[in-house]
Amino acid sequence: MVWFLRSKENIESEKSKEMPDGLWTKCPSCNEIIFKKQLEENFFTCIKCGHHYRIGVKEYIGILLDEGSFVEINSNLTSADPLNFYDSKAYTERIAQAIASTNLNEALVTGMGSIDKIPVGIGFMSFNFIGGSMGSTVGEKFFRLTRLCIEKSLPLIIVCASGGARMQEAALSLMQMAKTSAVLTELAEARLPYISVLTDPTTGGVTASYGMLGDVILAEPGALIGFAGPRVIEQTIKRKLPPNFQRAEFLLEKGFVDSVVPRKDLKKTIATILRWFQN
Ligand SMILES: [Zn+2]
Repeated sequence: MVWFLRSKENIESEKSKEMPDGLWTKCPSCNEIIFKKQLEENFFTCIKCGHHYRIGVKEYIGILLDEGSFVEINSNLTSADPLNFYDSKAYTERIAQAIASTNLNEALVTGMGSIDKIPVGIGFMSFNFIGGSMGSTVGEKFFRLTRLCIEKSLPLIIVCASGGARMQEAALSLMQMAKTSAVLTELAEARLPYISVLTDPTTGGVTASYGMLGDVILAEPGALIGFAGPRVIEQTIKRKLPPNFQRAEFLLEKGFVDSVVPRKDLKKTIATILRWFQN
């Protein structure tokens, strides 16, 4: 007997469920009705309460990089299925569906571009691609991007959004934490800066590796950032968690992130930090 049926076949679409089709949208936080165009002009944040909508890779490219500067690398890399994994459906089918619905080949898009005329190596994660999960290909793309930064003496920026490890790749997925952390050590040895930008949500293996390894760690307001979910933690420590637990502001207060930056200020903040490192 089936207890719960999804009303839609695909829940993994690059267009987040927060961004329905149509001219108007209702803010999930304050219920304000907002004209879509206005939302777009306001960096996809609510004009009334400032709620940051989840947005895709294309939107972040437009917001953070100088116009037309982005050149994608390794765009053809996509996940293999080394374990022949099958849960409610075959992993290969899951990958194919994610590719079709997001128009991306992986949960991490990497390339080079410029921010306020400063050349950078940059990666964007897509939560809509199998929950932004980190599999071998995400790890490999991260690795190649970082190596390219070292080769070309560029700073590295990663915009994170992830539900954690790609469970369909089991231990191979977990190994990516070590792989990405190791190559970041090489970047540090080359004395090149790495800035991580944590967006809603950044959890699991990404938090446990490159998410939290930035020389500077920025977060968007209200972003959920954590390792395990609050329910698992409550059950483990048998205590009620404080309000706002695992939100960007809470993590700032506890010293886990360096700054909570509204999306509209993200580009100039990163540019300021990069200039500081250049000096
Ligand atoms: Zn609002």
